Amino acid sequence: MSKFVRVDKEKCIACGSCGDAAPDIFDYDDSGVAEVVFEGDNNRGVTAISEDLYTDLQDAVDGCPTSCIEVADQAF
Ligand code: SF4
Repeated sequence: MSKFVRVDKEKCIACGSCGDAAPDIFDYDDSGVAEVVFEGDNNRGVTAISEDLYTDLQDAVDGCPTSCIEVADQAF
C-alpha cells in the first residue's frame, strides 16, 4: 500500500524535528514551517513516498509535537 504525506502548515510550529528524522521528505519554507519536498511534491500530498523511507517517515510522525504530519494511503 502506498503512503502519501503532507504537513498541515497551520499547525506546524517550525520545531525542525521532521527534517532531521526524514530529510528526504521534509524541508522548511522561509518561515521555518515544514513542507513535503519529496520528488517535488510541494506539500500537495500527491507523491507516493518510497518504501525505503517509511521508517524515516514514521519517526517524523512520531516526533512531531503538534501531530500536523498527515499520512494517508491515497493521494490527498
Ligand atoms: Fe512542524 Fe511537526 Fe515538522 Fe515540527 S515536526 S517542523 S511541528 S511538521
